[in-house]
Amino acid sequence: MAKEDYETVIGLEVHAELSTKTKIFCSCPTTFGAEPNTHICPVCMALPGALPTLNEKVVEYAVKAGLATNCEIERDSKNDRKNYFYPDLPKSYQISQFDKPLCKNGYIEIEDDNGKPKKIRILRIHIEEDAGKLNHNEFSGGSLVDLNRAGVPLIEIVSEPDIRSSSEADRYLKKLKSILQYIDVSDCKMEEGSLRADVNVSVHKVNTPFGTRHEMKNMNSFKSIQRAIDYESEEQISDYENGKEVEQETRRWDDVAGRTYTMRTKENAQDYRYFPEPDLVAIKLSDEYIKNIKYNLPEMPESRKKRYMEELGLSEKDANALTSSKAYSDIFENAGKICNNYKAVCNWLTSDIARILNEKELEPEQIPFTAEQLAELIELIDNGEISTKIAKTVLEEMFEKPRFPKKIVEEKGLVQISDEASIKKVVDDVLEKNPQSIIDYKNGKDRALGFLVGQAMKETKGKANPKLLNKLFLEELNK
Ligand code: ADP
Ligand code: ZN
Ligand code: MG
Repeated sequence: MAKEDYETVIGLEVHAELSTKTKIFCSCPTTFGAEPNTHICPVCMALPGALPTLNEKVVEYAVKAGLATNCEIERDSKNDRKNYFYPDLPKSYQISQFDKPLCKNGYIEIEDDNGKPKKIRILRIHIEEDAGKLNHNEFSGGSLVDLNRAGVPLIEIVSEPDIRSSSEADRYLKKLKSILQYIDVSDCKMEEGSLRADVNVSVHKVNTPFGTRHEMKNMNSFKSIQRAIDYESEEQISDYENGKEVEQETRRWDDVAGRTYTMRTKENAQDYRYFPEPDLVAIKLSDEYIKNIKYNLPEMPESRKKRYMEELGLSEKDANALTSSKAYSDIFENAGKICNNYKAVCNWLTSDIARILNEKELEPEQIPFTAEQLAELIELIDNGEISTKIAKTVLEEMFEKPRFPKKIVEEKGLVQISDEASIKKVVDDVLEKNPQSIIDYKNGKDRALGFLVGQAMKETKGKANPKLLNKLFLEELNK
């Protein structure tokens, strides 16, 4: 059998940290990056006798996520204890949800590998608490526990095994991230661990039952997830081809080695002994409550896209690109409103800014400058104060050290030369140095004009007003 006879099957369990101000069962703050063990209290430290209280915002955010991913919302839900021992889990159990998750049976629409729309079904979304963090000390060899993250609220979004390739998985994750950002329930900063996925991969021959899966836990890079899926898929196919069975395993992806390793096999699988959390009451939601959240959902990408095409006259391709992330879409709208040149903002975002983000491996939400600053750049071009070429230099600088473009132009002396006398001098000088180009032009070679303008731009380090330059050259050449 050949590789083509196999199909890869992928299911993802995505954890997203919710951006509520306080933790799920106490009023400690959730902000990232604080000194270790400063955002803690008896509840999230699990001191004896401390009792949890459910943060209502967590339920609201989870319901928002459910509604935005076409889920049914459970009116009658509850919390359960998931028991396991780990040093960063002070209670020795995690409060999660077992058989009555808040949301179920939803879907997210993505494009398959042929560009056709495809629904990836969502089995469930439930709420739970995050664990603390172990900081391994390279020097002393020990590990220190930081409980700041213990009790930070999470939603876990579990997909059905509907994904069929690493690129589909990538599109699913990016779409999910974008939805969570649009509804403003998570910042989804992967580098801070706000979004992470357990990746389940199996292979089987088409029209036969699914194969046994391998699970890679806690992955937080889109690129590594794609690589891990491709690696697993190839390895599993080769195992089957060599008559080896694939065993159910939890594995770890090694990004440097570019391969996965066994962590534990099915025999060592955890038994979590789930049972209803006795310290919390059941979660009962009224139709009114859900309707209200639904009514107040922010504008989603599809609707923004339609608006960009119908009201602002953008192409579908541009509208798609701009709405692919909320950060992009927000900076587009805000900058467009200020400079009143949406088309130009769109062009900068989809060409030069997209290119630089790509080169620097940054996400749109990591654009370092503000909408006001981008709008000012476009105004400087529109007012003829700088050329597009200079604007590109200014943009690079805005990525290096974000500040207002006017300031950069001043600091670097990049103001466009627009006074006729100075430009005339450059034109005369260039013509004198290039007599052949004058002859060429007179013989009908229009390219000669472009060459001359280019020379003049070089002389002025790109600062000459191009319109004026053209005009003056033509006047001289046509004399
Ligand atoms: P667990 O919680 O033990 O990991 P679940 O039954 O909740 O087990 O499944 C977790 C994930 O595994 C789901 O996202 C599901 O889509 C995926 N999954 C289940 N079966 C397969 C399979 N054969 N191949 C790939 N993924 C699978
Ligand atoms: Zn606390
Ligand atoms: Mg799992």
